[in-house]
Amino acid sequence: MNACADSAWALSGPVLLTASVCIGVLLLARWVKQQRYFPGRESFIVLHLASLWWMFAASLEMAAQGAECKVFWASMAWPGILAVPTFWAIFLWQYVNSVREPLPVRSSLGLVVVPLLIWLMALSNPWHGLFYGAGTAPLTDAPGAPIRYQHGPLFYAAAVYVYLFMAFCMGVVLRAALVSYGVHRRHYLAFVFVTAVPWAANISYVVFDWMLFGFDPTPFSFAFTLLAFAWLIVGVRLFDLLPIARHLLLDALLDPVLVVDARLRVIEANPAALKLAGLPNEWQGRTLADWPILGADLQALLTRQSKDELEQEQLLTLANSARYFEVRVRAIERITHRGTLVLGRMLYLRDVTQRYLSELKLAEALAISEERLRTISNLHEQLQEQALCDPLTGLYNRRYLDEFFARELALAQREHTPIALALIDLDHFKRLNDEHGHLEGDDVLKGVAEHLRDSLRSSDAVFRIGGEEFLLILPRADAQEARQRLDCICCSLAAHPLPTRGGARYVTLSAGLALWPEQGLVLDELLQVADAALYQAKDEGRNRVCSLA
Ligand code: GH3
Ligand code: MG
Ligand code: MG
Repeated sequence: MNACADSAWALSGPVLLTASVCIGVLLLARWVKQQRYFPGRESFIVLHLASLWWMFAASLEMAAQGAECKVFWASMAWPGILAVPTFWAIFLWQYVNSVREPLPVRSSLGLVVVPLLIWLMALSNPWHGLFYGAGTAPLTDAPGAPIRYQHGPLFYAAAVYVYLFMAFCMGVVLRAALVSYGVHRRHYLAFVFVTAVPWAANISYVVFDWMLFGFDPTPFSFAFTLLAFAWLIVGVRLFDLLPIARHLLLDALLDPVLVVDARLRVIEANPAALKLAGLPNEWQGRTLADWPILGADLQALLTRQSKDELEQEQLLTLANSARYFEVRVRAIERITHRGTLVLGRMLYLRDVTQRYLSELKLAEALAISEERLRTISNLHEQLQEQALCDPLTGLYNRRYLDEFFARELALAQREHTPIALALIDLDHFKRLNDEHGHLEGDDVLKGVAEHLRDSLRSSDAVFRIGGEEFLLILPRADAQEARQRLDCICCSLAAHPLPTRGGARYVTLSAGLALWPEQGLVLDELLQVADAALYQAKDEGRNRVCSLA
């Protein structure tokens, strides 16, 4: 190696081109390193460092003049050659699956074992000749002429190893392009293209022996990938524009937003969420349960609810403060051939404390108003009842008579049924008052009212229309039935004494009947007929029921 390091060098055009590509790769890696929202960042940087190694070794091979030294630098390129597709595959996998965590160290070391072995095989080629065959020689006799390699079985084994990774890369980006839409699909198609170019260059070299500047064209194709990436980054700005725009949107939101992974660890929180939790930094990866203020309640909400319930808006009342949030949960899913995989959830919180408290106050005011309305309605009903009822006997008074009769009349007209009216007057009541006092007279009036009420059917009604005068209305009762029932009322009253404060008193009644529609069509007419019949009953000796023929 020392001999090769000290040997003659020549700075040709291709060497300078490779060197400039190296500088470009370095700048790109540096830019990527600064990007916070770039999934697969570490793999991307390692991939470019590997391509740098490859190109650096290729430049040294081109610049070296001795044939043995050229083969030595070609062997030195192998770690880069092998690491490029390996980390390209890892980067693409992480990028399309939005994996931000770097590959674990143990896995990275595992991926280094085979490249190391292949590198040792290439370096030890002078002893076994299984990597580059005996036919490996300069193309011409000119000093520094490129080498034509005769590939041995170990070289092809290494090529197969590389191609397996390249095939995986193609599969990943093609699938991503197929399942995505719009701008994202174009983005992944660009990845397919960028992936295909170095691969095509390599196949053309390995299979068809095609060379550029007398050299494997693959490292030169990195000049293309560099330009393509530069265009994607600066021209299309897909790498940074969309994530940054989304991030700015999250930053600008006054409402807290959290993103949790499938194990309910917080992987994203906007400033509003951090402010609410009082967390300045050191929050990434915290479990939701440990998240201050909101965490425990949100965790309970997520674990308690079914998937469908979670898609609906939920009201979250914070247990430890008088604040209310409306929580919207959106699952972040990936559709795989085995079904839908929930990668995590976005929790969008809206502070609805003011609105909620106003609603509570409103509901309270409404409840009070309803209660008041109920009281007023009850009072109104009572007043109406009192206005229509006689305070002494509890019977309906004259005021209700018109309304009741109009209703019954309409019904009778519709159903073609009769109505009977009976005007009742107590006999010699003045005398009873005079002999036993007004108060006892009142007691008798109450007793008569009770007697009349007890004799009624549900459709009948009794009214106190004067001092000791009552009116019975018997819907659907014809002359005969009315007569029978009134006779019965009259007889049983006369037979049973009524209790009063001064002792039991006997009282009798006289009644006059009138019948709708035969004896009158309106209430006044009927009352006149009934009054005339009552007069007749008094005239005939009282304690009886009369009706005009
Ligand atoms: P008749 O058999 O002819 O009807 O004789 P009567 O004494 O009943 O005569 P009338 O019907 O004219 O008398 C009614 C009496 O009823 C007059 C009054 O003293 C009495 N009266 C009227 N309203 C009340 C009342 O609210 N309470 C009491 N205790 N008596 C009343
Ligand atoms: Mg009277
Ligand atoms: Mg009387």
